[in-house]
Amino acid sequence: MHAAKRKHITVIRGDGIGPEVVKAALRVIEAAGVDLELDECEAGAKVFARGNATGVPQETIDSVTRTCVLLKGPLETPIGYGAKSANVTLRKLFETFGNIRPVRTLPGVKTPYSDRNLDIVIVRENVEDLYSGVEHMQTPGVAQCLKLISRNGCEKIVKLAFEFALAEGRHVVHCATKANILKLTEGMLQHAFEDIAPKYPAIDAKHILVDNCAHQLAMRPEQFDIIVTTNMNGDILSDLTSGLTGGLGFAPSANIGSRVSIFEAVHGSAPDIAGKNVANPTALIFSAAMMLRHIGEGRAATAIEHAVVYAFEQGVHTGDMLGTGNPVSTTGFADAVIANLGKRSSISKQRKHGHFKVPPMVESVEFVKPKARRVVGADVFVESLLMPGELGRKVEALVADSPLKLTGIANRGTAVYPEVEAKVGLVDHYRCRFVSRDARKPVGDAQLIDLLQRLAGDLSWMHVEKLQQFDGEDAFSKSAGQA
Ligand code: NAP
Repeated sequence: MHAAKRKHITVIRGDGIGPEVVKAALRVIEAAGVDLELDECEAGAKVFARGNATGVPQETIDSVTRTCVLLKGPLETPIGYGAKSANVTLRKLFETFGNIRPVRTLPGVKTPYSDRNLDIVIVRENVEDLYSGVEHMQTPGVAQCLKLISRNGCEKIVKLAFEFALAEGRHVVHCATKANILKLTEGMLQHAFEDIAPKYPAIDAKHILVDNCAHQLAMRPEQFDIIVTTNMNGDILSDLTSGLTGGLGFAPSANIGSRVSIFEAVHGSAPDIAGKNVANPTALIFSAAMMLRHIGEGRAATAIEHAVVYAFEQGVHTGDMLGTGNPVSTTGFADAVIANLGKRSSISKQRKHGHFKVPPMVESVEFVKPKARRVVGADVFVESLLMPGELGRKVEALVADSPLKLTGIANRGTAVYPEVEAKVGLVDHYRCRFVSRDARKPVGDAQLIDLLQRLAGDLSWMHVEKLQQFDGEDAFSKSAGQA
């Protein structure tokens, strides 16, 4: 008889409270009878301090590439090393595009919402949006961050949310966006959601504006089942939902990719309580249970979840919980969970956890293929201390005999030229919009280069954006106040 093959995972213990909560989770996994082969790796503060600007050494990347499963503690993003977040780097390097963040009401964990029987999952897009981290100072006083959202990314996260809903026997998926304001970026998620929803007729699919979603989560959170959303919205909403059910100490997460998946608590390294053996390890233990389910150890995962909930029912609690009696330490909590393995909570309903399909990585770079496309003009961003009228007249003069004409100037997205009645607060960052004088003719690169040369003689430009039409539709926004 062959011994069962040991499953191989990568472990990063992390920074701050990371080593304490990871140790607790690994003890619980072992006690539950799952024999894992651990590849211990590093990332985060110590790696940054050694001068590695990514915070993720090559050995760690190689290990995760081999094992495809990472259990990690939180990683600090130290200030002063000019570094990007090592967490974001890991998520992006391994294209873990979907971040699944479940929370539920836990017996004995007192919150103002304890009687609502909450069971909510945030499905957060994990690699796009403002977290692409493409930032520039455009003038000494004006910064820009690109909010990159792709149709491919939207389709993948929406499908993941619906597939996850089916696998867990859930019935409602809300899509939370700010599509009323950000029609092209946030609107892209709404459109993908509306296009894909009919393929999942068993699920009630609803769009909700994200600000209202936050309000509804505070007022009537029990109406939510799954919420799919963009990266930054999901980051914020998932901290909110963790607050509804006890706090960050209870909120697990799974970063899902088509090849690699990363399991970690929602919380960070909590440096204020690091090294004191007081951190709540529940979030990491629950994350470890999600990992076990992912690698086919569903029975152990369920046993662990029951043992944790049973500990809460017994009144065992760490210092972050509103409880009575003395809180236990991080190790004390892990001891209680281990002692409870095999016991089942009578109050907490165990949910169905079926296998869910992860949308595959699309190999093609070009995902959306319009039948027709053309360039109709350009936005040129200039740094200027002139008032809008002066700037407008100067630009008009500079392009007087160009095939492109100035149609308007905006300041932080508000139309200011042709001059408006309203008194608009101004900064030294103007967007000048140009279109072809002959609307029938597309604009070529030579005309745009000529335009820049004309402007550059007298003005300081820092950014150019082509104005395109796809299938006859304008692929750019208007300014506020523009007719
Ligand atoms: P945080 O580490 O999540 O901590 C915020 C507060 O939440 C803590 O001060 C603590 O509050 C409480 N808390 C969090 N986890 C807890 C636990 N397991 N048990 C008990 N209390 C817990 O957020 P932060 O202070 O904003 O971030 C600290 C560092 O973590 C930063 O460098 C950040 O970049 C990083 N971070 C990493 C990740 C990740 O690795 N995925 C995620 C978020 C942040 P009390 O004051 O009540 O003790």
